[in-house]
Amino acid sequence: MTPEEYFLNTSLYSRFSLEDLKYHRFALLVCPVQPIKSTCLICNEESVFKPIDIKSSLNKVGTNRWVSVTSTQNYSMIDPDIMHEFKTTFSCTYCNVQKLVFYSLVYKNSLQKIGQSPSYADLNFNGLNKYKKFLGEYFNEYKRAIGLASSEIGIGSFVYLRRIIEKKILGYAVELANEKEKDFDLKEYNDLYFKDKVNRLKEYLPTYLIENTHVYSILSKGIHELSEQECNRYFSVLIGAIEHIMDDAIAKENARKKREEIQKKLNEINSDLT
Ligand SMILES: [Zn+2]
Repeated sequence: MTPEEYFLNTSLYSRFSLEDLKYHRFALLVCPVQPIKSTCLICNEESVFKPIDIKSSLNKVGTNRWVSVTSTQNYSMIDPDIMHEFKTTFSCTYCNVQKLVFYSLVYKNSLQKIGQSPSYADLNFNGLNKYKKFLGEYFNEYKRAIGLASSEIGIGSFVYLRRIIEKKILGYAVELANEKEKDFDLKEYNDLYFKDKVNRLKEYLPTYLIENTHVYSILSKGIHELSEQECNRYFSVLIGAIEHIMDDAIAKENARKKREEIQKKLNEINSDLT
């Protein structure tokens, strides 16, 4: 395991045996020398974070205060029967503002990550920021749906996904329908039940969402009719469909902006020539 994997990709409280980690190498995990790559929430992009400060709560003589340590000191002072806490801080080398702070506990020959800031979710969901604009106020529900599904809370996650489908995905399909059908009746559409709305807009939704009877039936069921198992099973299809539609919407929006930019430049050239 590398420091990057330990700090960024393990969930809190997972326990690692020091023997499995090859005892001496654990020191390099909590007291890393090399920088790690992670998302910076301030730069809003992937960045390089260098270790700037590593402290341990317990030094060799047993006085209980936080002292700065290096990996060599750290290794030599570890007594597996005493609880040692470590605080490892990294700083973004681009902005020098964002810090990643991790707390680890070493006790009885095992290592545990016991705290971190920013949270695991904030660091890992950042790649989803491209959907923030499209989802607007529903962005947090989208993250919550993914978080719940990762804990296998299927129905809870599904409730959020269906709200997102109803409010944002079908909303986008309504825009497409409005562009294509001159006589699209919004009032009549608004009065429909959820499953009839999906049916009304099927032309503008991915076919696998509509034509797969299992997916369609889970979308149409009442909450009380759903089972944890089926919600967990169809989660990846539903989230995949939502992301597919959002990617499509974002690509169309970018193409529209590009067209406008080119047109603007052409107009400038034309007015200069005349
Ligand atoms: Zn930064």
